[in-house]
Amino acid sequence: MTQLIDDFQRVVRYVRISVTDRCDFRCVYCMSEEMTFLPRAQVLTLEELATVARAFTELGVEKIRLTGGEPLVRRGIDELVTEIGQLEGLKDFAMTTNGAGLVKHAPALRQGGLQRLNISLDSLDSVRFKQLTRTGDLNKVIDGLHAAQDAGFERIKLNAVIMKGRNDDEILDLVEFARRESIDISFIEEMPLGDVSDHSRGETYCSSDEVQAIIESRHALMPTTESTLGPSRYFRMADSVSKIGFISPHSHNFCATCNRVRVTVEGRLLLCLGNEHSVDLRETLRRYPGDIERLKTRIVDAMALKPERHHFTTDGDVQVVRFMNMTGG
Ligand code: SAM
Ligand code: SF4
Repeated sequence: MTQLIDDFQRVVRYVRISVTDRCDFRCVYCMSEEMTFLPRAQVLTLEELATVARAFTELGVEKIRLTGGEPLVRRGIDELVTEIGQLEGLKDFAMTTNGAGLVKHAPALRQGGLQRLNISLDSLDSVRFKQLTRTGDLNKVIDGLHAAQDAGFERIKLNAVIMKGRNDDEILDLVEFARRESIDISFIEEMPLGDVSDHSRGETYCSSDEVQAIIESRHALMPTTESTLGPSRYFRMADSVSKIGFISPHSHNFCATCNRVRVTVEGRLLLCLGNEHSVDLRETLRRYPGDIERLKTRIVDAMALKPERHHFTTDGDVQVVRFMNMTGG
Protein backbone atom coordinates (compact mmCIF):
# COMPACT_ATOMS: atom_id res chain seq x y z
CA MET A 1 0.00 0.00 0.00
CA THR A 2 1.23 3.53 -0.76
CA GLN A 3 2.11 5.26 2.49
CA LEU A 4 2.17 8.92 3.27
CA ILE A 5 5.80 9.85 3.94
CA ASP A 6 7.12 13.40 3.98
CA ASP A 7 10.57 14.75 3.11
CA PHE A 8 11.69 14.32 6.73
CA GLN A 9 10.79 10.62 6.76
CA ARG A 10 7.78 11.16 9.00
CA VAL A 11 4.94 8.76 8.18
CA VAL A 12 1.52 10.38 8.32
CA ARG A 13 -0.97 8.07 10.06
CA TYR A 14 -3.35 10.57 11.57
CA VAL A 15 -5.72 13.02 9.96
CA ARG A 16 -7.95 15.54 11.65
CA ILE A 17 -10.95 16.53 9.59
CA SER A 18 -12.95 19.65 10.29
CA VAL A 19 -16.61 19.00 9.51
CA THR A 20 -17.92 22.52 10.08
CA ASP A 21 -16.64 26.01 10.88
CA ARG A 22 -19.81 26.77 12.86
CA CYS A 23 -20.24 26.48 16.59
CA ASP A 24 -22.80 27.08 19.30
CA PHE A 25 -20.06 28.50 21.58
CA ARG A 26 -17.76 31.51 21.10
CA CYS A 27 -14.77 30.59 23.27
CA VAL A 28 -12.59 33.63 23.87
CA TYR A 29 -9.38 32.04 22.58
CA CYS A 30 -11.00 30.54 19.51
CA MET A 31 -13.56 32.91 18.02
CA SER A 32 -14.57 36.51 18.16
CA GLU A 33 -18.04 37.40 19.34
CA GLU A 34 -19.28 38.25 15.88
CA MET A 35 -18.31 35.59 13.39
CA THR A 36 -19.05 35.29 9.70
CA PHE A 37 -19.27 31.66 8.71
CA LEU A 38 -18.65 30.16 5.30
CA PRO A 39 -21.41 29.92 2.69
CA ARG A 40 -22.60 26.34 2.35
CA ALA A 41 -21.23 25.92 -1.18
CA GLN A 42 -17.68 26.36 0.10
CA VAL A 43 -18.02 23.68 2.75
CA LEU A 44 -17.37 20.04 1.88
CA THR A 45 -20.56 18.00 1.65
CA LEU A 46 -21.01 14.94 3.87
CA GLU A 47 -20.30 12.77 0.86
CA GLU A 48 -17.09 14.66 0.09
CA LEU A 49 -16.01 14.39 3.73
CA ALA A 50 -16.57 10.63 3.65
CA THR A 51 -14.57 10.35 0.42
CA VAL A 52 -11.68 12.26 1.95
CA ALA A 53 -11.71 9.96 4.97
CA ARG A 54 -11.73 6.91 2.76
CA ALA A 55 -8.85 8.18 0.62
CA PHE A 56 -6.72 8.69 3.72
CA THR A 57 -7.43 5.24 5.17
CA GLU A 58 -6.54 3.73 1.79
CA LEU A 59 -3.20 5.56 2.16
CA GLY A 60 -2.38 4.00 5.51
CA VAL A 61 -4.00 6.50 7.86
CA GLU A 62 -5.11 4.62 10.99
CA LYS A 63 -6.51 7.41 13.06
CA ILE A 64 -9.17 9.95 12.18
CA ARG A 65 -10.42 12.69 14.43
CA LEU A 66 -13.46 14.76 13.53
CA THR A 67 -13.41 18.29 14.80
CA GLY A 68 -14.51 21.79 13.84
CA GLY A 69 -15.99 24.25 14.74
CA GLU A 70 -18.35 22.11 16.72
CA PRO A 71 -18.84 18.78 14.92
CA LEU A 72 -22.16 18.14 16.64
CA VAL A 73 -23.81 21.18 15.03
CA ARG A 74 -23.19 19.75 11.56
CA ARG A 75 -26.42 18.32 10.22
CA GLY A 76 -25.99 14.63 9.38
CA ILE A 77 -23.03 14.12 11.70
CA ASP A 78 -24.38 10.80 13.03
CA GLU A 79 -24.63 9.41 9.49
CA LEU A 80 -21.14 10.67 8.60
CA VAL A 81 -19.71 8.98 11.69
CA THR A 82 -21.43 5.72 10.77
CA GLU A 83 -19.98 5.87 7.27
CA ILE A 84 -16.43 6.62 8.39
CA GLY A 85 -16.73 4.09 11.22
CA GLN A 86 -16.98 1.31 8.65
CA LEU A 87 -13.75 2.15 6.80
CA GLU A 88 -11.27 -0.66 6.60
CA GLY A 89 -7.91 0.02 8.21
CA LEU A 90 -9.26 2.59 10.64
CA LYS A 91 -8.03 1.67 14.12
CA ASP A 92 -8.78 4.76 16.07
CA PHE A 93 -11.79 6.98 15.46
CA ALA A 94 -12.22 10.03 17.67
CA MET A 95 -14.01 13.35 17.91
CA THR A 96 -13.26 16.62 19.67
CA THR A 97 -16.41 18.34 20.89
CA ASN A 98 -17.54 21.01 23.30
CA GLY A 99 -19.89 18.37 24.71
CA ALA A 100 -23.07 20.44 24.59
CA GLY A 101 -24.67 18.16 21.98
CA LEU A 102 -23.72 14.85 23.54
CA VAL A 103 -26.98 14.18 25.36
CA LYS A 104 -28.60 14.11 21.94
CA HIS A 105 -25.83 12.44 19.92
CA ALA A 106 -23.71 10.19 22.16
CA PRO A 107 -25.63 6.91 21.63
CA ALA A 108 -25.74 7.26 17.83
CA LEU A 109 -22.07 8.25 17.62
CA ARG A 110 -21.00 5.27 19.68
CA GLN A 111 -23.20 2.95 17.67
CA GLY A 112 -21.75 4.38 14.47
CA GLY A 113 -18.27 3.28 15.50
CA LEU A 114 -16.82 6.37 17.15
CA GLN A 115 -14.44 5.11 19.83
CA ARG A 116 -13.07 8.08 21.70
CA LEU A 117 -14.16 11.57 22.67
CA ASN A 118 -12.25 14.65 23.70
CA ILE A 119 -14.50 17.07 25.51
CA SER A 120 -13.33 20.63 26.01
CA LEU A 121 -13.83 21.94 29.53
CA ASP A 122 -11.96 24.98 30.81
CA SER A 123 -13.90 25.76 33.98
CA LEU A 124 -16.16 24.07 36.52
CA ASP A 125 -17.71 27.35 37.59
CA SER A 126 -20.84 28.01 35.57
CA VAL A 127 -20.47 31.81 35.62
CA ARG A 128 -16.88 31.65 34.50
CA PHE A 129 -17.72 28.91 31.99
CA LYS A 130 -20.20 31.28 30.43
CA GLN A 131 -17.60 34.06 30.33
CA LEU A 132 -14.99 31.86 28.64
CA THR A 133 -17.37 30.34 26.12
CA ARG A 134 -19.62 33.44 25.86
CA THR A 135 -22.69 31.28 25.17
CA GLY A 136 -22.03 27.90 26.80
CA ASP A 137 -24.02 26.24 29.58
CA LEU A 138 -21.80 24.21 31.92
CA ASN A 139 -24.64 21.90 33.03
CA LYS A 140 -25.31 20.88 29.47
CA VAL A 141 -21.68 19.90 29.01
CA ILE A 142 -21.55 17.90 32.26
CA ASP A 143 -24.79 16.12 31.27
CA GLY A 144 -23.19 15.48 27.87
CA LEU A 145 -20.14 13.95 29.50
CA HIS A 146 -22.35 11.62 31.55
CA ALA A 147 -24.34 10.67 28.45
CA ALA A 148 -21.06 9.76 26.75
CA GLN A 149 -20.03 7.65 29.72
CA ASP A 150 -23.38 5.85 29.60
CA ALA A 151 -22.95 5.25 25.86
CA GLY A 152 -19.76 3.30 26.58
CA PHE A 153 -17.00 5.14 24.73
CA GLU A 154 -13.61 3.44 24.96
CA ARG A 155 -11.95 6.55 26.23
CA ILE A 156 -13.07 10.03 27.22
CA LYS A 157 -10.61 12.82 27.78
CA LEU A 158 -11.11 16.40 28.86
CA ASN A 159 -9.17 19.19 27.17
CA ALA A 160 -8.55 22.38 29.12
CA VAL A 161 -6.87 25.49 27.74
CA ILE A 162 -5.24 27.23 30.71
CA MET A 163 -4.94 31.02 30.73
CA LYS A 164 -3.28 33.02 33.47
CA GLY A 165 -5.70 35.15 35.44
CA ARG A 166 -8.70 33.47 33.82
CA ASN A 167 -8.74 29.82 34.89
CA ASP A 168 -5.28 28.92 36.18
CA ASP A 169 -6.73 28.77 39.71
CA GLU A 170 -8.88 25.81 38.61
CA ILE A 171 -6.10 23.46 37.54
CA LEU A 172 -6.31 21.29 40.67
CA ASP A 173 -10.12 21.31 40.63
CA LEU A 174 -10.11 20.13 37.03
CA VAL A 175 -7.71 17.33 37.96
CA GLU A 176 -9.94 16.28 40.88
CA PHE A 177 -12.97 16.31 38.60
CA ALA A 178 -11.21 14.05 36.06
CA ARG A 179 -10.16 11.68 38.87
CA ARG A 180 -13.70 11.53 40.22
CA GLU A 181 -15.10 10.76 36.79
CA SER A 182 -12.27 8.26 36.04
CA ILE A 183 -11.41 10.01 32.80
CA ASP A 184 -8.22 11.58 31.43
CA ILE A 185 -7.44 15.25 31.13
CA SER A 186 -5.02 17.19 28.93
CA PHE A 187 -3.89 20.72 29.52
CA ILE A 188 -3.28 22.78 26.40
CA GLU A 189 -1.12 25.85 25.91
CA GLU A 190 -3.00 28.59 24.12
CA MET A 191 -1.89 28.90 20.53
CA PRO A 192 -1.61 32.10 18.51
CA LEU A 193 -4.23 31.27 15.92
CA GLY A 194 -6.47 34.03 14.69
CA ASP A 195 -6.63 37.58 15.97
CA VAL A 196 -8.76 37.36 19.10
CA SER A 197 -9.69 40.71 20.55
CA ASP A 198 -10.92 39.65 23.98
CA HIS A 199 -7.61 39.26 25.84
CA SER A 200 -3.90 39.68 25.33
CA ARG A 201 -2.27 36.32 24.74
CA GLY A 202 1.10 37.58 25.87
CA GLU A 203 -0.37 38.14 29.34
CA THR A 204 -2.45 34.97 29.63
CA TYR A 205 0.07 32.48 28.28
CA CYS A 206 0.60 29.70 30.81
CA SER A 207 3.24 27.08 30.00
CA SER A 208 2.69 23.36 30.51
CA ASP A 209 5.62 23.35 32.92
CA GLU A 210 3.80 25.85 35.14
CA VAL A 211 0.61 23.77 35.01
CA GLN A 212 2.57 20.61 35.79
CA ALA A 213 4.26 22.23 38.80
CA ILE A 214 0.85 23.15 40.23
CA ILE A 215 -0.46 19.60 39.80
CA GLU A 216 2.72 18.17 41.34
CA SER A 217 2.12 20.25 44.45
CA ARG A 218 -0.64 17.71 45.18
CA HIS A 219 0.00 14.60 43.07
CA ALA A 220 3.23 12.86 42.12
CA LEU A 221 3.21 12.51 38.33
CA MET A 222 4.93 9.55 36.71
CA PRO A 223 5.79 9.90 33.02
CA THR A 224 4.41 7.20 30.76
CA THR A 225 5.32 6.29 27.22
CA GLU A 226 1.65 5.82 26.38
CA SER A 227 0.62 7.62 23.25
CA THR A 228 -2.53 7.98 21.20
CA LEU A 229 -0.56 9.06 18.13
CA GLY A 230 -1.35 12.62 19.20
CA PRO A 231 0.81 15.43 20.58
CA SER A 232 0.02 14.88 24.30
CA ARG A 233 2.74 13.84 26.76
CA TYR A 234 1.11 11.66 29.42
CA PHE A 235 1.64 11.15 33.14
CA ARG A 236 0.03 8.78 35.62
CA MET A 237 -0.82 9.12 39.27
CA ALA A 238 -0.34 6.18 41.64
CA ASP A 239 -3.86 6.30 43.05
CA SER A 240 -6.05 6.92 40.00
CA VAL A 241 -6.88 5.51 36.58
CA SER A 242 -6.91 9.05 35.16
CA LYS A 243 -3.99 10.14 33.03
CA ILE A 244 -2.78 13.71 32.86
CA GLY A 245 -1.62 14.99 29.49
CA PHE A 246 0.14 18.12 28.34
CA ILE A 247 -0.12 19.56 24.86
CA SER A 248 2.65 22.09 24.58
CA PRO A 249 3.12 23.54 21.13
CA HIS A 250 5.24 26.39 22.51
CA SER A 251 7.38 24.92 25.21
CA HIS A 252 7.87 21.34 24.02
CA ASN A 253 8.05 21.48 20.29
CA PHE A 254 6.64 18.23 18.93
CA CYS A 255 7.30 18.78 15.24
CA ALA A 256 9.98 16.07 14.95
CA THR A 257 7.44 13.34 15.67
CA CYS A 258 4.54 14.98 13.86
CA ASN A 259 2.51 12.29 12.10
CA ARG A 260 -0.60 14.31 11.34
CA VAL A 261 -2.20 16.50 8.78
CA ARG A 262 -5.48 18.37 8.80
CA VAL A 263 -8.30 18.91 6.36
CA THR A 264 -10.21 22.14 6.75
CA VAL A 265 -13.92 22.42 6.30
CA GLU A 266 -13.27 23.87 2.83
CA GLY A 267 -11.24 20.84 1.87
CA ARG A 268 -7.84 22.44 2.23
CA LEU A 269 -5.25 19.88 3.23
CA LEU A 270 -3.03 21.60 5.79
CA LEU A 271 0.35 20.07 6.23
CA CYS A 272 1.14 21.92 9.47
CA LEU A 273 -1.01 23.75 12.01
CA GLY A 274 1.49 26.58 12.26
CA ASN A 275 2.18 27.15 8.58
CA GLU A 276 0.08 28.03 5.59
CA HIS A 277 1.31 25.21 3.32
CA SER A 278 -1.80 23.63 1.88
CA VAL A 279 -3.34 21.82 -1.05
CA ASP A 280 -6.90 22.27 -2.32
CA LEU A 281 -8.62 18.87 -2.18
CA ARG A 282 -12.06 20.36 -2.84
CA GLU A 283 -11.00 21.36 -6.30
CA THR A 284 -10.01 17.77 -7.07
CA LEU A 285 -13.17 16.39 -5.45
CA ARG A 286 -15.45 18.65 -7.48
CA ARG A 287 -13.63 18.51 -10.77
CA TYR A 288 -13.34 14.71 -10.75
CA PRO A 289 -16.28 13.48 -8.69
CA GLY A 290 -15.97 9.82 -7.75
CA ASP A 291 -12.31 9.60 -8.83
CA ILE A 292 -10.76 8.58 -5.53
CA GLU A 293 -7.48 7.52 -7.14
CA ARG A 294 -6.90 11.06 -8.35
CA LEU A 295 -7.66 12.39 -4.90
CA LYS A 296 -5.18 9.94 -3.39
CA THR A 297 -2.46 11.01 -5.82
CA ARG A 298 -3.05 14.63 -4.87
CA ILE A 299 -2.68 13.73 -1.18
CA VAL A 300 0.50 11.70 -1.77
CA ASP A 301 2.03 14.56 -3.77
CA ALA A 302 1.13 17.03 -1.03
CA MET A 303 3.44 15.32 1.45
CA ALA A 304 6.42 17.05 -0.15
CA LEU A 305 5.00 20.32 1.20
CA LYS A 306 4.98 19.31 4.86
CA PRO A 307 7.31 21.76 6.58
CA GLU A 308 9.87 20.63 9.11
CA ARG A 309 8.47 22.65 12.00
CA HIS A 310 6.23 25.48 13.14
CA HIS A 311 7.45 28.75 14.64
CA PHE A 312 4.96 29.73 17.33
CA THR A 313 6.13 32.29 19.87
CA THR A 314 4.74 33.01 23.33
CA ASP A 315 4.48 36.79 23.06
CA GLY A 316 1.01 36.64 21.60
CA ASP A 317 2.00 37.72 18.11
CA VAL A 318 -0.42 36.43 15.57
CA GLN A 319 1.45 34.42 13.00
CA VAL A 320 -1.29 32.42 11.44
CA VAL A 321 -4.41 34.30 10.58
CA ARG A 322 -6.72 31.30 10.46
CA PHE A 323 -9.06 30.85 13.36
CA MET A 324 -8.91 27.53 15.16
CA ASN A 325 -12.47 26.71 14.15
CA MET A 326 -11.36 26.82 10.52
CA THR A 327 -8.45 24.47 10.86
CA GLY A 328 -9.92 21.99 13.29
CA GLY A 329 -8.17 22.09 16.63
N1 SAM B 1 -15.63 22.65 19.25
C1 SAM B 1 -14.83 21.53 19.63
C2 SAM B 1 -14.21 21.76 21.00
O1 SAM B 1 -14.21 22.88 21.48
O2 SAM B 1 -13.71 20.80 21.56
C3 SAM B 1 -13.78 21.16 18.64
C4 SAM B 1 -13.02 22.26 17.97
S1 SAM B 1 -11.99 23.21 19.03
C5 SAM B 1 -11.30 24.35 17.89
C6 SAM B 1 -10.73 22.04 19.42
C7 SAM B 1 -9.85 22.36 20.58
O3 SAM B 1 -9.06 23.46 20.28
C8 SAM B 1 -10.59 22.68 21.85
O4 SAM B 1 -10.14 21.84 22.90
C9 SAM B 1 -10.21 24.11 22.13
O5 SAM B 1 -10.12 24.34 23.50
C10 SAM B 1 -8.90 24.22 21.43
N2 SAM B 1 -8.53 25.59 21.04
C11 SAM B 1 -9.25 26.49 20.35
N3 SAM B 1 -8.56 27.64 20.15
C12 SAM B 1 -7.35 27.44 20.73
C13 SAM B 1 -6.17 28.23 20.88
N4 SAM B 1 -6.09 29.45 20.38
N5 SAM B 1 -5.13 27.68 21.54
C14 SAM B 1 -5.19 26.43 22.05
N6 SAM B 1 -6.26 25.63 21.94
C15 SAM B 1 -7.33 26.13 21.30
FE1 SF4 C 1 -16.51 26.37 19.47
FE2 SF4 C 1 -14.64 24.61 20.13
FE3 SF4 C 1 -13.96 27.05 19.24
FE4 SF4 C 1 -15.07 26.81 21.62
S1 SF4 C 1 -13.09 25.95 21.00
S2 SF4 C 1 -15.63 28.32 20.03
S3 SF4 C 1 -16.45 25.15 21.34
S4 SF4 C 1 -14.99 25.51 18.08
